[in-house]
Amino acid sequence: MAAEIIDGKQISADIRAELAEEVKKMKSEHGITPGLAVVLVGEDPASQVYVNNKEKACLEIGFKSIKHVLPAETTEAELLALVDRLNKQEDVHGLLVQLPLPGHINEDRVILSIDPDKDVDGFHPISVGRLAIGVPGFVSCTPAGVIELLKRSGTELEGANAVVVGRSNNVGKPAALLLLDENCTVTICHSRTRDLGAVTRNADVLVAAVGVPELIKGDMVKEGATVIDVGIHRTDNGLVGDVDFEAASKKARAITPVPGGVGPMTIAMLMRNTLKAAELTLGR
Ligand code: NAP
Repeated sequence: MAAEIIDGKQISADIRAELAEEVKKMKSEHGITPGLAVVLVGEDPASQVYVNNKEKACLEIGFKSIKHVLPAETTEAELLALVDRLNKQEDVHGLLVQLPLPGHINEDRVILSIDPDKDVDGFHPISVGRLAIGVPGFVSCTPAGVIELLKRSGTELEGANAVVVGRSNNVGKPAALLLLDENCTVTICHSRTRDLGAVTRNADVLVAAVGVPELIKGDMVKEGATVIDVGIHRTDNGLVGDVDFEAASKKARAITPVPGGVGPMTIAMLMRNTLKAAELTLGR
């Protein structure tokens, strides 16, 4: 039987519509418009596209979007001074600095300088620590999107064998922690894993965040598994993921396509984090 295609585009649109309703309520009940500040340093074309998409999503949902575009020669001290100002600015609830930064700026120092209560990217070590010990905090957007896709596609997580292929700080590790939090039995694979297929064939839930085009073949997928493909690669045959979609979809119960799977979820989760950041200020 053909696998159910998990429609990330539709799920992302549903979430953004739900958030827009909550924003309306927040405005009328508390007079607060959630604000997201995005800082871009330099002219990296991909980063420019990401930043513009974030601004567009903010405006659609009813957030205030505050964009700072700085020249590539900006010094680290100048950037840190701007972050400090935005940390203190009351109409800025969420704050992110678009990565990668030019080589002369230390990314870790910049991430550390962001107020953890505004850290909507979830990259600050305090956010990562909160996730690790299971207390509320900001979860980075792509892994949060993976979990949302699993939940909204009706995937049974309690007690499931979940295998995450990839252990990066921004996708693999947080995805594994989130799955653990959902009571999955979690295995993390990486480039030194022996016999990857033997591990993935045991996965009820398989998350591929590898960065290698179509590494996960059909015979590496368990019959009836749910497969979430985080990878995205431009090839001569168009965009492909980390999973051989054609072959894997013959085995899986449900699977995300590339494009239109995990990709659209990242911005939706960023918007959700920004609303959460604005809600945090209500409790103060
Ligand atoms: P990354 O930092 O390069 O990490 C890749 C991970 O995969 C590493 O842990 C690596 O292991 C592991 N790996 C590499 N080759 C392997 C192999 N042959 N077998 C098993 N494991 C292997 O990549 P990332 O940032 O996590 O991103 C992964 C993919 O997701 C990329 O295609 C990226 O473009 C995509 N992505 C998409 C979104 C989105 O859609 N919004 C967001 C972020 C990333 P080692 O640790 O041992 O090196």
